[in-house]
Amino acid sequence: MNKGIKTGGNPGQLRWVILLLAVAVILPTVCLLWFMSQAVKNVQLAAQQKLIDLYTEKLERAVPQVQRTWRDRANLVEDKVEEEPMANFMSFVLDAGGADRSGGVLITYDDSGRLLYPIIDSGTEQPSVPEEFESAWKLEFVERNFKEARRIYDQIADSAQEDYIWRKAMLGQARCEVGRGRISLAMTMYYRNAAYDRLSREMSPASVSLAAHARVMVAALEQQLNEQNTAELSRLIRSATYYGQDVHSQRLFLPMDCATRIFILQKAIDIAEKSPKAQEFKKNNRIERTKWLLAAEQMAVEVAEHYPNTAAFKKWAVGSVHRLDVVSDVYGLYCEAAGRTFLLVRLGEEVRKDFGAFEQSFGGSDVLYRVLDDKGIFVSGTEQSEENPFLTLAVGSSLPDWQVKLWFKDSDIFTKAASREVAIYIWAGVLVIVLILAAGGIAGQAVGRQIKLNRLKNDFIATVSHELKTPLSSMRVLADTLLEGNYKDQKQATEYLQLICKENKRLSGLIDNFLTFSRMERNKQAFEMVKTSPFSIAHAAADAVKTKFSEGRCEFEVKISEDLPDVSADHDAMVTVLVNLLDNAYKYSYDDKHIELRVFTEDGLVCFSVVDNGVGMSRRSAKRIFKRFYQVDRSLSRRAQGCGLGLSIAKFIVDAHKGSISVDSKPGEGSTFTVKLPAAN
Ligand code: ADP
Repeated sequence: MNKGIKTGGNPGQLRWVILLLAVAVILPTVCLLWFMSQAVKNVQLAAQQKLIDLYTEKLERAVPQVQRTWRDRANLVEDKVEEEPMANFMSFVLDAGGADRSGGVLITYDDSGRLLYPIIDSGTEQPSVPEEFESAWKLEFVERNFKEARRIYDQIADSAQEDYIWRKAMLGQARCEVGRGRISLAMTMYYRNAAYDRLSREMSPASVSLAAHARVMVAALEQQLNEQNTAELSRLIRSATYYGQDVHSQRLFLPMDCATRIFILQKAIDIAEKSPKAQEFKKNNRIERTKWLLAAEQMAVEVAEHYPNTAAFKKWAVGSVHRLDVVSDVYGLYCEAAGRTFLLVRLGEEVRKDFGAFEQSFGGSDVLYRVLDDKGIFVSGTEQSEENPFLTLAVGSSLPDWQVKLWFKDSDIFTKAASREVAIYIWAGVLVIVLILAAGGIAGQAVGRQIKLNRLKNDFIATVSHELKTPLSSMRVLADTLLEGNYKDQKQATEYLQLICKENKRLSGLIDNFLTFSRMERNKQAFEMVKTSPFSIAHAAADAVKTKFSEGRCEFEVKISEDLPDVSADHDAMVTVLVNLLDNAYKYSYDDKHIELRVFTEDGLVCFSVVDNGVGMSRRSAKRIFKRFYQVDRSLSRRAQGCGLGLSIAKFIVDAHKGSISVDSKPGEGSTFTVKLPAAN
């Protein structure tokens, strides 16, 4: 074969085809992966949205319950607005909220925003007292002349115009009687008078304060005289815990400032707890109620000192709840009713209980919640979390700037919720990618086959034209010579004609091989399988090559075993196989040729062996010689003619007979080709 002949496809084109194929596979795969990642993200987002919707709904159900609680309280404030702020205050502490003090502490302001209750500042300066007091005090405290001092106090009391002076003188008288050891008199007479007599709404806070002091003294002295008597103590408690004063079933609200109230409440508790009848007081919850009032009063003072008027509430909406800027953990509900402004103060611990609805909604679920007040301070739920909340909502119009934050106990919940869908997407994606790859593979194979076929066609054309050219041109030269009469005699002319005939035969042989190959390629070679004797096949082949082998130095032996079984074969096709092998043995042997054709049986198979002492071949070549157009020596100078089709045709025929063909060869030592066919049974 001519080495210069270009065969096969264009490598540049091939590269393009491979590139296009790669793009056709990679591009959709990459797109699919992208779509998949987007789809997975979307599924996760959808799952997240679903959960968010679910919990938003839950939250929206819980929020109104908290709102309602505060609205009810605001309504209660409006319902309970009575004339006396103090009465209101006490009813919130003692009645409205029931025994657990959850009613709250009610701070009241008038329509101009001034504090009405609690009374922090008594408003009046300490009233001036007559000069006579000076000498009375001197007698009482320095000289301890109680009798004389009492007389002066008596005079002051008799002539006193002001309630304050009168009460102060009464207290002086009482003290002097105590100093003289007349305790019972001091208690039943002077202290009691100073405590409970001449009470009126017009009394000044300073005067009320003296009365309160006298009340405490009455109760204390009663205990001192006889611990079993508790009438005065009861009266003290009643007046401290119920209303300012209960005179003939008429409620009288004395303008008592909170310092006095706190004093009187504290003393009442002290005396009652020390009394041997303390159990009785406790039974009726009276000490308990007094303590609530004391705590409420103290809280009221703390708040009222910080909010002495309504200026701070200007920005607040009516009915809204805010954390108050005081040391205690308290919240205020801002209300307006009957021209007054109210601040219902509730302890943080009580406010926390209002969020029970949240606990009901989220307790035991996958979600944790945290309620923060308008100052961002934790109120209810789970106090600390590292996680970012997935939902932050307002707690409702009653609680402006309050927030409830929700987050999942399990941070992977979105991924878990979407995992089923994600798995489906991934599997579908993997399947499609596998299909794309498979389709790409199949397409690649088809293209490869096509390229190979193309190369074969090119090889075929190149080989055919080359192999045909040689005999044709030698035939033309000979024919031209004869036509031009350039020959010596008839003998030479005959010789030329014989040469033409020989070339013609070779040409026919070549063309036969091409045709066989072509039929083979198109799968159109039909074999006629009949029972045939191996002997006749071997003989026909030997006959075909006999003439050729008789030329030159060639020893040809045919060794056929006896009792060979028949084979099921196409006689002519098998002769072609053996002729091809014998032809090759001849072609690829040196001048002293020794060729053998052996036919024998081995392992129940009929074997045809062609043995030569020719050039042989390497192991590598031996593996390839049955491929189409393969030639060990492809150089121009090679002696043997041929087109690399003989052995591939032989293999095709042998395969069609369900047989096998093999070669055993060593370079320089000759070759043995063996065809094995199954015996016909
Ligand atoms: P060709 O037409 O070239 O002979 P074949 O298909 O018959 O084609 O043989 C393929 C190649 O195998 C040959 O080119 C030759 O190199 C090698 N070959 C075949 N038979 C022999 C042999 N008996 N000894 C050495 N080489 C051989």
